[in-house]
Amino acid sequence: MQGRASTSDRDVLIVGAGVAGLSLATALGRSGLRVTVIDGASRPASSPEGREVGDWDLRVSALTPASVRFLETLGAWSGIAADRRAPYTGMQVWDAQGSGRIAFDAVEADSPHLGHIVENRLTLGALLQCAEACPGVDILWNHGLKSMALAAAGWEVCCEGGETISASLTVGADGARSRVRELAGIPTREWSYRQSAVVGTVALESTHADTCWQAFLDTGPLALLPLADEDKVAIVWSLDDGQHEKIASLSDAHFLAALNRALGADAPVAVGVGPRASFPLRQSHAVDYVDQGLVLVADAAHSIHPLAGQGINLGLSDVRVLAEELMAGVDSGLPVASAILLKRYQRQRKTENLAMMAAMEGFKRGFGSQNPLAVVARNIGLGLVDQRAWLKRWFMDQALS
Ligand SMILES: Cc1cc2nc3c(=O)[nH]c(=O)nc-3n(C[C@H](O)[C@H](O)[C@H](O)COP(=O)(O)OP(=O)(O)OC[C@H]3O[C@@H](n4cnc5c(N)ncnc54)[C@H](O)[C@@H]3O)c2cc1C
Repeated sequence: MQGRASTSDRDVLIVGAGVAGLSLATALGRSGLRVTVIDGASRPASSPEGREVGDWDLRVSALTPASVRFLETLGAWSGIAADRRAPYTGMQVWDAQGSGRIAFDAVEADSPHLGHIVENRLTLGALLQCAEACPGVDILWNHGLKSMALAAAGWEVCCEGGETISASLTVGADGARSRVRELAGIPTREWSYRQSAVVGTVALESTHADTCWQAFLDTGPLALLPLADEDKVAIVWSLDDGQHEKIASLSDAHFLAALNRALGADAPVAVGVGPRASFPLRQSHAVDYVDQGLVLVADAAHSIHPLAGQGINLGLSDVRVLAEELMAGVDSGLPVASAILLKRYQRQRKTENLAMMAAMEGFKRGFGSQNPLAVVARNIGLGLVDQRAWLKRWFMDQALS
């Protein structure tokens, strides 16, 4: 449903109609709350369905089984065409500078698969259908947030077009450069890697074997994520500033040669490539996720190095926990913006997000090192992981959680 919101009859105002904002709107709207979502962009067009190398979304996500279960409860999973979801059953991680290697398999994890690779625009499109079908949800496109002021009944949000909207609870779901976070004056801790990731779709000479392939280079990880066509993968290639511009601007033939060189002999060979794009890599973590009448979710609260492909999964966990806490609180008679409910959400999610970010930071620093001792240590580390069943089990649990 689309339309203009009246100024103050809403329970929740969500800024940002990305995966986090739309999943939260659906969860809350289904439970009877009146929700308005604003987004500065235009409504996304429906997704093209071609299968050539240039037809796939440049941004894909490795959705964990927990994220898939949550999308199922929202009714969004069935809205993603089955022939565009790619269940993966294997994971190969190796050190391109050394000899260490980790291999996981779904059979070892006693699971039919380890997760699904899905194009982001398809996840977003399915969530948009669900949110638009909720009677209590209004979505206002081309409504960028301009300013915010705290009033007695909640935040008054002024949009770029001049419209003012207020609700009991305001949610910042407006991504890594969250304006909500900035205007509310919530500081962040930031780690910039002075790196960017080059992303694109690549055609392979052979099958990807339903496996995620991840090489650790001295600049960071280079991942091949299997798409629903067995000879196509999405790549995420972390490169230092200065280096990434050169790689991103190479002709197709030179790009493929550089990619195959970086992957080495133990990975599938790339034979075709579509358009490429670059994203700056940074980790940031909001010092607080909540303020009076206000809460941050997903990338607005924490953006994480794409090394583990966990960004969207952590965001969906935030949304699930926040929706559960708000609905349980409202059912027990608390106001939707109750500080007790918001703090319960923050307590649960901050610990888990911080632990994941610290693990990614450790991995990144360990693998980014050219110090010979660090190279030896990481080879021993990867070798150990492959041999010690319990340690490997721990890694698999992270992938499956
Ligand atoms: C290279 C790369 C690879 C990645 N790979 C993975 C992966 O494999 N797996 C994974 O889980 N994650 C991955 N991620 C992370 C994932 O893409 C993000 O975690 C996810 O998109 C965050 O969703 P979100 O809804 O919080 O924010 P976003 O998707 O950024 O959505 C924010 C929304 O807010 C809107 N908005 C912004 N500012 C305003 C404003 N002022 N007013 C109104 N609206 C506004 C935007 O238009 C947008 O619609 C990757 C990220 C990068 C950069």
